[in-house]
Amino acid sequence: MSQALLAVMPRWLVPVHPEGQVLEDHAVIIAGGRIEAVVPAVYVERQFGQAERIELPDHVLIPGLVNAHTHNAMTLMRGLADDLPLMTWLEEHIWPAEQHWVGPDFVRAGTELAIAEMLAGGTTCFNDNYFFPDVTAGVARRAGMRAVLGLPVISVPTAWAQNEREYFSRGLAVHQDLVGEELLTTAFAPHAPYTVSDEAFERMRDLAEEMDVPIHLHLLETAGEIDGSLKAHGKTPLDRLDALGLLGPRLLAVHMTQLGSDDIRRVARAGVHVLHCPASNLKLASGICPVAELDAAGVNIAIGTDGAASNNTLDMFAEMRLAALLAKGASGNPEAVPATRALSMATINGARALGLEDRIGTIEAGKSADLAAVALNQSGTLPVHNVISHLVYSAGRNQVSDVWVEGRRVVRQREVETLDTDEVHRSAHQWAARLSVKE
Ligand SMILES: [Zn+2]
Repeated sequence: MSQALLAVMPRWLVPVHPEGQVLEDHAVIIAGGRIEAVVPAVYVERQFGQAERIELPDHVLIPGLVNAHTHNAMTLMRGLADDLPLMTWLEEHIWPAEQHWVGPDFVRAGTELAIAEMLAGGTTCFNDNYFFPDVTAGVARRAGMRAVLGLPVISVPTAWAQNEREYFSRGLAVHQDLVGEELLTTAFAPHAPYTVSDEAFERMRDLAEEMDVPIHLHLLETAGEIDGSLKAHGKTPLDRLDALGLLGPRLLAVHMTQLGSDDIRRVARAGVHVLHCPASNLKLASGICPVAELDAAGVNIAIGTDGAASNNTLDMFAEMRLAALLAKGASGNPEAVPATRALSMATINGARALGLEDRIGTIEAGKSADLAAVALNQSGTLPVHNVISHLVYSAGRNQVSDVWVEGRRVVRQREVETLDTDEVHRSAHQWAARLSVKE
């Protein structure tokens, strides 16, 4: 990679670490995809005179957002079935459509659409959970987006694999193919406790340790999940996972809407990461994750959009705002999840959950230059009393102007540079026509 110097010079810079800091008139110096230094803008001429300058006089520069839980290919099912409970939505709409259509072409088209949406909205990294992770990896690589590819495990046959054994063998092959890639890593992605066997959980517990990867699991999404587990296993999902040795810092638990105060202490003690998807939980009326209490207990909470089939958007600005508001409403405490904490949840906390905190999530020397510039010179974000407040409570993703991943400018003045968006949109229309045909 070229060592040419780049100086990105925004009006405001929010490094996220330390939490709450806002720097004015500073520059981020980038070389070889990494952040070389963060310096006052007046030093650029003297110290980095040869750097190419990008001036952003009305913008705040933030770390690229980390979407900690998605099912990107499902973007093709956006709006296909709404306003239903989780199991009806899954069993009568989503699973039949998947059974019929999921394959490499579906995953490629859905992932391209998802990445076009996310990059334009300031998201530079996603944690995906879907079939054909090899195809998702290929799209992310071409689009220059950072990704954690879920290696799916589910006891239901799909076009990707017929049984748990085959899910493991195909997943391990994908992991092997990605070793050494800078932007792409993997995680095990067991669907949920009610669709994965004890044997499979034990096997992935051992493999995750060997491979040093997280385990990304939907957990305690609805109250029904607890009843089902008591019937099938004589244990709650948390007791079962504990007995299987899975409650630990490798576990990324998505949703977690059914937690009592003992459970919160247990999750905190174990170092489990919680991936919070407020829009999806509200839309499916699954329940509300006790984020204020988890945060107070010291649990690392990251924010995800979930798939566009249950959200129905991959908008991390909307998700941050909702996470901040819902925590206050649900806890009765307006001081819960202040804007600074919501921004951390959408950046460094996601990076930490994914084991990427040394590479991304803050703007600091030595980290990768994964950055998003947000223009605040619009009626809806003026005047600027507090930049971080605006990012969480006022700004929309349409205010993202430029995005870099590992120093590569993937969005330039609101245009995604690395994908042919006209072609991506054409393909989305074609898939809508196919998916709407009833058998
Ligand atoms: Zn999900």
